[in-house]
Amino acid sequence: MIDLSASTSSASPDSPRVSAYGMSLSDWEEWLGAQGQPKFRAKQLVEWIFGKRAKTFSEMSNLGAALRQRLEASFSLARLPVSKVSGSQDTTRKFLFRLEDGRYVETVMIPASVSFAGERSDRITLCVSSQVGCAYGCKFCASGLAGFTRNLSAGEIVGQVITAEEEGNEVVRNMVFMGMGEPLANLPRLAKALEILNAPWGLNIGARHMTVSTSGLAPQIEKLAEIPMQIRLAISLHGATDEVRDRIMPVNAKYNIDRLFRSLAVWKEQKKQMVTFEYILIEGVNDDVEQARILAKRTRALRAKINLIPYNTVEGLPWKRPSEQQQQAFLSVLRKAGVSATLRTEKGHDINAACGQLRLKEETAEGLVVSAVAS
Ligand code: SF4
Repeated sequence: MIDLSASTSSASPDSPRVSAYGMSLSDWEEWLGAQGQPKFRAKQLVEWIFGKRAKTFSEMSNLGAALRQRLEASFSLARLPVSKVSGSQDTTRKFLFRLEDGRYVETVMIPASVSFAGERSDRITLCVSSQVGCAYGCKFCASGLAGFTRNLSAGEIVGQVITAEEEGNEVVRNMVFMGMGEPLANLPRLAKALEILNAPWGLNIGARHMTVSTSGLAPQIEKLAEIPMQIRLAISLHGATDEVRDRIMPVNAKYNIDRLFRSLAVWKEQKKQMVTFEYILIEGVNDDVEQARILAKRTRALRAKINLIPYNTVEGLPWKRPSEQQQQAFLSVLRKAGVSATLRTEKGHDINAACGQLRLKEETAEGLVVSAVAS
């Protein structure tokens, strides 16, 4: 049985068709088999969908007319409608996509010239969303403000890449799951999307060029480690002790720092890979040099890399960015302890700390946001 729940969005009554972007090669083989079609048609289909980027089934000239009609009735090749684009080709560009059910997600395109997550890539990086809203309620994050609405389907995750490539006129070769939502809370759909994004018959993006970022869902990190793909892992840590983390990240009450680091040991054992930690520096909350000392001790054994991100103000939230002197002092403690660490210095590059702001404004304007849970 094809598990279409991973492929479909929360289908609107007007559009019950399944997104073709969430269908893997084996899903197609199964569906085509049920239609009495030979297996090789699946390869032809994915070539049209991901290789040639067909916009309609009618242009798939090597498929019979009856099959094309059945495909048309059951599947959609629609791109995600673009509601707004902000930024320019030289800076980060934010796409606000309107989903079938009227909800919004943000996707951010970062040009090669802009350093991201502590590194300057020679490739375009796309930051994608995995959920509408987020249930994890980190106190500094815009995405958590209105709570959780729903998971994105695999088709909607892959659809962000396909649409952003077309709208941005770029080929995406680097991806981070750091947009709206907690990707590991949507693991089945994330796993399906990763398969499609990585496969040679799909978008053919190298596994080492895809980073999944999590707030620390320890059991799901262990499950992700079982996926036989050399994807990268980033942890939104933002505190080196339970005391600090408890204050700003409710997820810590469920999976505290010891539990999180046990799951990272599993990851390291499976993947033999370096883990990246994201650490947003917030004045008077987690920017004390004592936190830096504990952070260095905790992360050294993992051969980890730490990206320090000075906090960007979010409307409606009380937190502030520490002084530059304090940021440098924190960085210096880490470096002196032999930890690989970077401090983001670019201005106007706010996608980590301010994810979800654009979407929040749009949904509030349309009355879709019902409650705000800002502290
Ligand atoms: S930081 Fe990530 S996990 Fe936390 S509320 Fe924001 S989107 Fe959710």
